[in-house]
Amino acid sequence: MDTRLEAIREQVLARNPGEKEFHQAVLEVFESLGPVLDKHPEFVDANVLQRLCEPERQIIFRVPWMDDAGNVQINRGFRVEFNSALGPYKGGLRFHPSVYLGIVKFLGFEQIFKNALTGMPIGGGKGGSDFDPRGKSDREVMRFCQSFMTELYRHIGEYTDVPAGDIGVGGREIGYLFGQYKRITNRYESGVLTGKGVGWGGSLVRPEATGFGTVMFTQEMLKTRGTSLDGQRVVVSGSGNVATFAIAKAQQFGAKVVACSDSSGYIVDENGIDVSLLRQIKEKERGRLKEYAVRRGASVSYVEGGSVWDVNASVALPCATQNEINTEAATGMVKNGLVAVAEGANMPSTSGAIAVFQEAGILFAPGKAANAGGVATSALEMQQNASRDAWTFEHTEARLANIMVGIHNRCAETAETYGSPGNYVVGANIAGFVKVADAMLAQGLI
Ligand code: GLU
Repeated sequence: MDTRLEAIREQVLARNPGEKEFHQAVLEVFESLGPVLDKHPEFVDANVLQRLCEPERQIIFRVPWMDDAGNVQINRGFRVEFNSALGPYKGGLRFHPSVYLGIVKFLGFEQIFKNALTGMPIGGGKGGSDFDPRGKSDREVMRFCQSFMTELYRHIGEYTDVPAGDIGVGGREIGYLFGQYKRITNRYESGVLTGKGVGWGGSLVRPEATGFGTVMFTQEMLKTRGTSLDGQRVVVSGSGNVATFAIAKAQQFGAKVVACSDSSGYIVDENGIDVSLLRQIKEKERGRLKEYAVRRGASVSYVEGGSVWDVNASVALPCATQNEINTEAATGMVKNGLVAVAEGANMPSTSGAIAVFQEAGILFAPGKAANAGGVATSALEMQQNASRDAWTFEHTEARLANIMVGIHNRCAETAETYGSPGNYVVGANIAGFVKVADAMLAQGLI
């Protein structure tokens, strides 16, 4: 790594002890930036990188709530408002027991560059809580969300900070959060949250957007090698919102999706995954993936534990969570005939895994480019809210497709310009960084 960057990285490690996911996200970006600093000494002179690594604001708060048995429960809430050079802070909320400041900062840091890449006027932020929605009743989830918003409301707003969903936060949670915001502020401020229900200010295509966009990006990458998704054998990890719609879009493009997973195990369905059954079980019934195998019968195998990456595939779409593909898994995937990987989740590949893919000449799309369709469609939801309009599915999907092609081309051209043709990691990091750094310089010492 460039020695100037190495020195800044040391400072980041020392200032943010123990936040290993944040360190990993910073390292991944820094490894790409050497050539930019040579070309743009003004970024070095103005200490833009040191500023970028320090969030503009970090909020940590107590979330007390009462469970159904009448016991008082305490969780910790977070909102990291990382960078507002391009627009209001924008990024999701994650409710998962693993959430702590290091996770929120890694996600917020990634979000800055991802949001810049979309070309939409949105800054970067992220939040969440160590609350685990799994196994909780609807009423418990509602009380938790109401308590969470009772603190968060004072920090957000359509021109300030616009949260959305992430792991553990879907339409149900956004509904409860929006309702509480409206009660407290006495304002019907639609643009304060995205991922709302379509009947009350949400956008069509927002639920599909992250998974759809990831597959659209994959298609663009494959095109550069004169091929397409048609006839590819695809494995997807996860079975939540991103995974489900990635499967659906890959199938639309003629691929055969044979496997997906949840945190307990994975299924292999050689006939191709039945998306409506998967959605019925995971979304409507909030059940486990094992149930899919039970209902489909002998043609589907369910493997308890283990890794979905043992299933051979030409295209892999990691759509579960961070660091789910390590060096060993990546090596096995390459041996099994892998052609392309696109990250539907945030940072699902370790840096070792990325190195394995790149050395093997696999097409590799990092999450901040591949999964940017979700937040881009959130920005489209904000546009609709601001103009009090509601667009059709076709129009919104066409906008998304256009945005994904734009992100792909921006990454590819930037990688080429900076001497790493075909390297989407370099392309995404540099294109995102330059856009934010230019804005920060123009806005003075911020
Ligand atoms: N959580 C999503 C992401 O990782 C979406 C954020 C949003 O729509 O604001 O990009």
